[in-house]
Amino acid sequence: MARLVVITGPSGVGKGTLKRGLLSELSLPESISATTRLPRQGETDGTEYHFLTRVEFEQRRDSDDFLESAEYAGNLYGTLRSEVEARSDGAKAVVLEIETRGAEQIRDRDPDAILIFIAPPNSAELRKRLEGRGTDDPEQIAVRLAEAERELTLRDEFDTVIVNDDVARATAELVTQVRSRLD
Ligand code: ADP
Ligand code: 5GP
Repeated sequence: MARLVVITGPSGVGKGTLKRGLLSELSLPESISATTRLPRQGETDGTEYHFLTRVEFEQRRDSDDFLESAEYAGNLYGTLRSEVEARSDGAKAVVLEIETRGAEQIRDRDPDAILIFIAPPNSAELRKRLEGRGTDDPEQIAVRLAEAERELTLRDEFDTVIVNDDVARATAELVTQVRSRLD
């Protein structure tokens, strides 16, 4: 299996935005996660996520199909072993974008994993980004901001913290960090 690059941090901080820059800059593959969350408008099965029912997810978890999995904001999310294995061939690393409970599982099980925490400049900016993204209703935003309070206390558990103040600057820092750790 290729090495794992784990991008973690609170929802809305810009993990997906920075990940896209990293993938294109270093030509790395990403693992498509599984979730029980319903697809958002424009999301399709197998592209953003493998969308599973809770029963399907739990069956696959019982069969040990996941490298890590966690409950987050009322839904299950997990990294399928089969995804990482399929994308490992010829790749220097496979990139995972996951919340902090899953990242802690990878950290505890895989000493070679590269763990990067993306932090917001401040909590007000995080709220602004979640609201501005327009994908979550006010109740879901409140749940995610409550999760963020907990997740932000964990930042020092990971190898590197990158503050996503500016997309271009933070992407460049992420690329430099990952490149130096993969060399
Ligand atoms: P996550 O994947 O962590 O949930 P996203 O990548 O979806 O976060 O980003 C959440 C929102 O914030 C998006 O609308 C994105 O365009 C915006 N965003 C990301 N990074 C920045 C930044 N540095 N400054 C301002 N807005 C940003
Ligand atoms: P969203 O519902 O906004 O797509 O994702 C919610 C949170 O789940 C985000 O922080 C996202 O990074 C995280 N997530 C996505 N896929 C996985 C996964 O496979 N495992 C874990 N533990 N978290 C994931």
